[in-house]
Amino acid sequence: MSSRYKEPAPIKDHLNPLDSMMERFSEATKILGLDDSTYDALKSPEKSVTVNLSVTMDDGTIKIFEGHRVIHSANLGPSKGGIRYSLGVTLDEVKALAAWMTWKCAVVGIPYGGAKGGIKCDPRTMSTGELERLTRAYTNSMSNVFGPERDIPAPDVGTNPQTMAWIMDEYSKLKGVSSPAVVTGKPIVLGGSNGRIEATGRGVMVSARSAMGKLKMNPSKSTAAVQGFGNVGSISAKLLEEQGVTIVAISDVSGAYFNPNGIDIQDAIGYTSKNNGTLEGFTKGDIITNDELLELDVDVLVPAALEDQITAENASRIKAKLIVEGANGPTSSGADKILNDAGIMVIPDILANAGGVSVSYFEWVQNRLGYFWTEERVNRRADRIMKQAFETVYQASRKYKVDMRIAAYIVAIDKVASTKRLRGTY
Ligand code: NAD
Repeated sequence: MSSRYKEPAPIKDHLNPLDSMMERFSEATKILGLDDSTYDALKSPEKSVTVNLSVTMDDGTIKIFEGHRVIHSANLGPSKGGIRYSLGVTLDEVKALAAWMTWKCAVVGIPYGGAKGGIKCDPRTMSTGELERLTRAYTNSMSNVFGPERDIPAPDVGTNPQTMAWIMDEYSKLKGVSSPAVVTGKPIVLGGSNGRIEATGRGVMVSARSAMGKLKMNPSKSTAAVQGFGNVGSISAKLLEEQGVTIVAISDVSGAYFNPNGIDIQDAIGYTSKNNGTLEGFTKGDIITNDELLELDVDVLVPAALEDQITAENASRIKAKLIVEGANGPTSSGADKILNDAGIMVIPDILANAGGVSVSYFEWVQNRLGYFWTEERVNRRADRIMKQAFETVYQASRKYKVDMRIAAYIVAIDKVASTKRLRGTY
């Protein structure tokens, strides 16, 4: 027996996403009885590349930006994962996000491994030209990492379809072939998929509906609070509202907005689209803090902004019956036990927000086929994947008598470990 089986389990919190991920990973591997060599092989990334990018800024100065791309695993297929532009980017964060991508792709059963990229920068203070030069420099440095059969980026926090268009263009120029399948989340006109923009929020809604079914919650008698009003948060809120759920609070980096009678989400989306993407100055709700939003007396809580929002410090004050994780890593490992003990069902990130990567997979399939599907077909197939994955994880949670998060890790690790064994090693 290795030392990892002897460790006691003190209630502690990890605010480093990599530690949080490793804690859940270790717990699931113990339940699975994973052998030590497979544990060791899966706990660390297969490849990690760090680059320093020189970029000419608009004022003529040259600035150096640190960028990373981490391939956690390429067992199930080429690695897949977004690229984040944020001042908070660290190698540890990228490693955690890359591992989550491995588990996420395995949970929903798509033939990809996991990867993630990030550049430490503040995209909000950079001009379009500066962002384009930074993105092209990063693509150039990663041209032997990326590839339609190797590693396929997508948007994440701070990046968007335009960023993907620059990557696709730079990569295609470097390789001398048009290569739309090297990235997903592209603009539709460049080979993007119908339904991709809404896919993550749609998967959050489908997961929430599946969980509400198990908990016998009636959507039209339920309330929800959504933290984050970017791609994932705004679409999750819109689609939950369409299901009859009353959205009583929304938020973004400018603060949170609470209206017990419900916020008209289409109206809020219209507001942000005319207000530089932010809710700042929104008047259809009382202003509260993001921390207060998390603790509102609602039925459903959707954290869809950043990591480590629900922690050992505030978990005991959460009143929602159901948490559906739109963001990656919004709950620290220290909060898990507190939420479980309180009987709160948590649909974990690697399941709840996997709709995005599922439709990214469809985009890649369509690019390789050179044949495009209707939005209705994309949504139907993505909904089926999400519903099946939810049911598989739910059954695993009953079988192993664990919460939905550990069940999702068990399903994913079991799949990746068995393919690793089949593929063999040196
Ligand atoms: P986004 O940049 O479109 O939106 C992020 C939102 O969070 C913005 O509204 C921003 O104002 C808000 N925000 C930032 N800091 C905040 C803070 N301190 N408090 C409250 N709100 C804050 O990003 P996104 O694509 O919607 O991604 C959100 C989360 O979902 C991330 O964790 C991301 O990794 C995850 N995710 C995204 C996708 C996708 O397809 N976009 C897929 C899976 C997971």
